[in-house]
Amino acid sequence: MAREPQNVQTHTNFTAADFGSPAEWFDYRHKLGEAEVGKHFTRATLGLTGMEVSFGVLPPGVSLPFLHAHKQNEEIYIAIAGDGEMQIDGQRIPLTPGTTVRVAPAGMRVLRGGTQPLSYIVVQAKAGSLEQATREDGIMSRDPVTW
Ligand code: ZN
Repeated sequence: MAREPQNVQTHTNFTAADFGSPAEWFDYRHKLGEAEVGKHFTRATLGLTGMEVSFGVLPPGVSLPFLHAHKQNEEIYIAIAGDGEMQIDGQRIPLTPGTTVRVAPAGMRVLRGGTQPLSYIVVQAKAGSLEQATREDGIMSRDPVTW
């Protein structure tokens, strides 16, 4: 049976869930053609409204079986563990933990695992939709921090 998020807590202003450690993400099994990969989209669980965030694992040497682009969403790929490679518009980018790649909607992209399973996070959001962030968007509380 496929893995499911654990300890999902939904409150007025947040939803929290445990998706497991990167090594466990392969348990979110996904069959893509001949390839069996780990992939889980968090939007439904977390109630995301402005972005999609997914966790993925590619076994060593396993490639996603298709190139894809997007109609309007940009994506950021963040390598978390292992190694692999990304190809965008024919350009190859090695992926190791910490490698982070932004891809414009039109970029034709594909990923593959390297010598170890590649665990990665993908965030996608509508290109050009971010109007403000961090200091422009944050509201500082005057309440003291208590734990
Ligand atoms: Zn995509």
